[in-house]
Amino acid sequence: MTDTSRTRILRGLGVGRGAAVGPAVRSHPAPSSAQLRADGVPDASLTAEDVSAAYRQVGEDLAKRAQAAAGTALADILRATSAMAVDPELTAAVTGRMAAGQTALSAVDAATEEFVNLFTAAGGHLGERATDLRSVRDRVVCCLLGLPGPGLPQLERPSVLVATDLAPADTSSLDLSKILAIVLEQGGPTGHTAVIAGQLGIPCVVRAGAGELREVHDGTVVAVDAAAGTVVVEPDEATRTRIDVRICGLRELAENRSPGRTRDHHPVELLANIGTPDDAERLDPNGVEGVGLFRTEVLFLGREKAPSREEQALSYTRVLRALPDRKVVVRTLDAGADKPLAFVPREYEENPALGVRGFRVGRTAPDLIHTQLDALAHTWKSSGTESWVMAPMIATPQEAAAFASMAHGRGIRRAGVMIEVPAAAVRAADILREVDFVSIGTNDLAQYTMAADRLLGGLADLLDPWQPAVLHSVAGVLRAATTVGKPAGICGESAADPLMALVLTGLGATSLSMAPGSVPTVRFVLAQHTLAQCRHIADAALTEATPTDARNAALRLADPTTLNFVGVTAGGLTR
Ligand code: PEP
Ligand code: MG
Repeated sequence: MTDTSRTRILRGLGVGRGAAVGPAVRSHPAPSSAQLRADGVPDASLTAEDVSAAYRQVGEDLAKRAQAAAGTALADILRATSAMAVDPELTAAVTGRMAAGQTALSAVDAATEEFVNLFTAAGGHLGERATDLRSVRDRVVCCLLGLPGPGLPQLERPSVLVATDLAPADTSSLDLSKILAIVLEQGGPTGHTAVIAGQLGIPCVVRAGAGELREVHDGTVVAVDAAAGTVVVEPDEATRTRIDVRICGLRELAENRSPGRTRDHHPVELLANIGTPDDAERLDPNGVEGVGLFRTEVLFLGREKAPSREEQALSYTRVLRALPDRKVVVRTLDAGADKPLAFVPREYEENPALGVRGFRVGRTAPDLIHTQLDALAHTWKSSGTESWVMAPMIATPQEAAAFASMAHGRGIRRAGVMIEVPAAAVRAADILREVDFVSIGTNDLAQYTMAADRLLGGLADLLDPWQPAVLHSVAGVLRAATTVGKPAGICGESAADPLMALVLTGLGATSLSMAPGSVPTVRFVLAQHTLAQCRHIADAALTEATPTDARNAALRLADPTTLNFVGVTAGGLTR
């Protein structure tokens, strides 16, 4: 029997609809200097030779891991990090400090921070490498102290991964078969780890526990409910039963393969967001009506050189083959800002999110977009399937027209753009004149409308897609598209929220694209409401002045039994 007096509920932001119960397993961060000092770790005996050997060892380990991951984007990241570990300048900075009297561990920390500051000041691609430098530091410290390397634990049984935060490289090396759920103390609902977890159908709660998550140790049983945004530590029988019922319900919903329809048969395409050919191959082609967002940048990130036309064509072909006769909307490279590319020359940018990113990369590296469109046109021509391509971060009708002409000029039939910059949302009617369709990226649209960095979990309240300013912006775009009769979908994370899906349908969305694991719930909720109900719900949400009131207004008008079944409650989820 579970001792119910030990049950605690930690709240956070849920990503996706899933739920799971299992033992917690923590990722192992390297000890901080403060922690080491507090523990009285004696490092005075460590010599400069020990330190140089530790850097060499870390470099070799990373190089081996890169070899094992050959052919993936991760391999390039690991190779570059390995090169950093054996960089003689870094080792010299550490041993120089030791010669001047510092102990080994403080010298490692001080030299790391010195390089981090240099990289951060350089900005762009180098700024991004600061995380890798710190990861080298963590590994060297563990090596010097004989501790197991920092990072993800080796999982022996299906477990709930608990961490302060996870780097994208950590997330991509997860053994999926053993991860029941992910719980993070930090991170944001539209951050990379959350997006990847959603992509893989892993229930995830971010910003969990407000400090209390640290008390969850290896082996402690936790019940994760992404729909409610809760993590129940040492759950009682009632909680376990509730979660088990939810898991069974979700399994049942996943059996339904019908296309997206309201109760009165108004069609809304239900599509998947993917990032790699592997994602496409993992999809059940009958479970979705296609792909609404193929984020192609994964193919370009962490590489020294851009992939060739031929290499790209191979990747795109794999995706089309995995989804025969399905619609696949490919987004051209969305790099820059938080996704810098080594091979694109970049000036220092004070505000990279407002800099040369997305379609704008074509200003400095026009060959990239031309080669990518050539590869796509070639792929579609050989496969004989309908071609849909869209550009990210379009701000003006002129950019939209330029992109459409590049795509149409190569025989690509449907050229569209993402609406994720407020300027594009305001001038949506003008943009729609230039293109065949639009897709609203609510992650960036919320970021730029609210002037709130989407990677800052602390600003999650401002990034909430129920914010009236964001809702009205989305409504304006959908109205403009309905007027001209062109398709307008949503491919930001908000499409995965079943209550928001009703609002978006009521506003005129023709497709909803989301992490594949969210499709069954959205399909179910949509099928229980008529188009008139969706319109009524949308109107009610639009009249409210706060995100909470907007959500509650929608909730009051939606079918309570349906929402209850999928875990949508008044105090619960937002996304
Ligand atoms: C978005 O901004 O909503 C979007 C779908 O694009 P990404 O998350 O890749 O920036
Ligand atoms: Mg975006």
